[in-house]
Parts: sequence; C-alpha cells; structure tokens
Amino acid sequence: MNIFSMVVTFENLHEVRRLCHWGPIIALSVISICSTMAIFDSIIWYWPLDTTGGSINFIMLINWTVLILYNYFNAMFVGPGYIPLDWKPGNQHHTQYLQYCKVCHGYKAPRSHHCRKCNRCVMKMDHHCPWINNCCGHLNHAYFTSFLLLAPLGCSHAAIIFIMTMYTQLYDRISFGWSTVKINMSAARQFQPLIPFSVPAFAATLFALGLALGTTIAVGMLFFIQMKVIIRNKTSIESWIEEKAKDRIQHYQTGEEFIFPYDLGSCWLNFKQVFTWTGMPKGDGLEWPVHPKCHQHTLTIEQLKQKADKRVRSVQYQAVEDYNGACCPLSKGLQTFFRTPCTEEPRIPLSKGETILATRGTKWWMYGDKMLSEKSAKILCLFLNYFGMM
Ligand SMILES: [Zn+2]
Ligand SMILES: [Zn+2]
Repeated sequence: MNIFSMVVTFENLHEVRRLCHWGPIIALSVISICSTMAIFDSIIWYWPLDTTGGSINFIMLINWTVLILYNYFNAMFVGPGYIPLDWKPGNQHHTQYLQYCKVCHGYKAPRSHHCRKCNRCVMKMDHHCPWINNCCGHLNHAYFTSFLLLAPLGCSHAAIIFIMTMYTQLYDRISFGWSTVKINMSAARQFQPLIPFSVPAFAATLFALGLALGTTIAVGMLFFIQMKVIIRNKTSIESWIEEKAKDRIQHYQTGEEFIFPYDLGSCWLNFKQVFTWTGMPKGDGLEWPVHPKCHQHTLTIEQLKQKADKRVRSVQYQAVEDYNGACCPLSKGLQTFFRTPCTEEPRIPLSKGETILATRGTKWWMYGDKMLSEKSAKILCLFLNYFGMM
C-alpha cells in the first residue's frame, strides 16, 4: 500500500461531500474574505514588509489563517466519532441499561445520541453544527473549541487592520486624542500604494470589517458556551437530561438524589479530558470516568426512566384537518404561518382522522409521533416483508 492510499482512503474522500452545504460555504467565504482583505490591506496600504512591526503583523495574520483553517477542517473531517454499527456492550447484561438505535442496529453507548443529519449515533454528542456540517462530539471537541477561540482572535486582528487602514487613508497621521501618543505613518507613505485606495477598495474594507466584527461577537459567544460545556464536562444535551431528571424526581417525589456522573469535580480535570498534547481526547468514547457515587450507566438508566415517563405522560390527539407537512403552512392561515417554530425538526404530514401521540406541547405546536392505525401498520408490515426488510 503506498503512502497516498494510506492517507487518502475512500472514507476521507467520501467526507469531502460535507463541504457541499451552505454552512461550510459561508464559513469558508467569511474566512477567505477576512484573511485576504487583511493581508492585502497590510501589504499594500499599511505597514510595509520591511519594518519589524509590519513583519510581525504579517506573520501573525498568516498564522491566524493557518491555525483557523487547521482546526476548522479537523473539526469537520475528524468528526465527532461514531458508535460502531451493531455495537453491543462487552457485558451482555448491560444491554438492559442502554437504549437501542434502530437506525444503527446497535445499542447507544453512554453519552452517545443519534444524529438525524449524520444518520449515526455520535460519541458524546453536543450538537450538530451546520457551520462544519458535522456533529460536535467526543473526537472533535478540542478542534471545534479551538476554532471558536481562534476565529474571533483572528477577526479582531483583521478588524484592527481594517480600521487602521481606512483611518490612515483618510488622515495623514493617527492621534489618539492626546498629543504625546502619535503614530508616524511616514514609513507607509514612502511606498507608492500598488492599488490606489479607491472607493471600491474602501467599500471592500468596510464590508470585511462588518464580517470580522460580526464573526468576533457571534463566534466569541459560542466559544464561551463550549468552554462552559468542557469545564463542567456536561454537553448541551446532558444539561437538558439533567433538567428533566430534576423535573421527574420533583414530579414523582421519589426522593432520589441526582448526581451528574461525568463532572469530575474540578474544572482542570474536566478540561484535560478534552484538551491533550496529542490533540486527541482521553478515552475511547464508549466508557467514561465517573463521579465516585455513580457508575457507567447512571445517566443511561435515567434516560430510560425519562423515556418510560414520556410514554406515560403522552396524550393522544386526533387530526381534524389534513396537513401536508409543509414547514411554513400558508394554507392554514397567517397565524399558523407566523407561529411556526424555528426548528429544523421534520413536520409530520397528517390526514384527517389520524391519531397523534404527543409527548411535548407548546402553546401552538405539538411534538410527537403519528400512531399507525392497525390497517396501515399491516400494510407497512406487508411492504417490508415484500422487500425482504423484515
Ligand atoms: Zn443511531
Ligand atoms: Zn450530526
């Protein structure tokens, strides 16, 4: 086997399709525009390369771009790590504590969840991120979070260059408001700009500045959210499960004490689970270090209890009108159209008279599954039988 085929396997090539999505296309466009404009502004309009400040500035800009892209592509292509198809725990006895995934034909390992977009069970799933068109989970958590830190840092640097460039093109020298602090721009003026600072150049710099500032704020906020996830060792999904656990215990007054099992008790210990010198997180994504009062299946047993509780608490409804499953159903009137929830969860088409088992409800929308009538269930069985799927 030659080196090329060792590095580029079919699976890697298959992963390239992740780029063909609005998320990566927009993210990479923003990175390209900000980097290119910052580098061009630095070379052509601002500090020339032969000053120390200019060289450091230039090297730093290239560095940001390389580091941002390195972490971005690793977050995308290394991926979160998937639970192997047909996976079973080593001890057969433990299957009773785990949920079964019908799509992956295997058990869901602790901390894993099935992602509908990736169509696989994802190790320590946090969320599916449209910007990397992949899930954020066990294996790519460090790359993803590093990207969230580096992008605002790089964009802030670029934003300073854009502001300085526009400022120095409009004024001969910069004064910060007091006479002693002045930056002499005569070095910059010695060089004839290769491209005159025309209106389009000004507009392009202003546009890039908008992108850079927007990215700094939006991605910076995401960085703080992910850091909270890491130092508590609790994913967004697990926070939700913990919330529901407390609700369940309160509702049934069971007197249980719920301890979140994966928080190791110290921010530093939790941090070291994700960030290591090798770049790969600790653990195999199937078994996890847990709190001394907990065991491997503390959370999965809680999830099973919540699932059973959901079945008990669900309510049956009957459809009184047909609905085609459209995302924003205009035919149902303006009120329905405007109150449609902002989620990507699929809508279920309904025919009049069909039964729905609702497990969750907001004021205007219900979440649940359609119950198959006996007749349609039989037809489905016949269909699956016919195609040899049962
Ligand atoms: Zn699955
Ligand atoms: Zn996913």
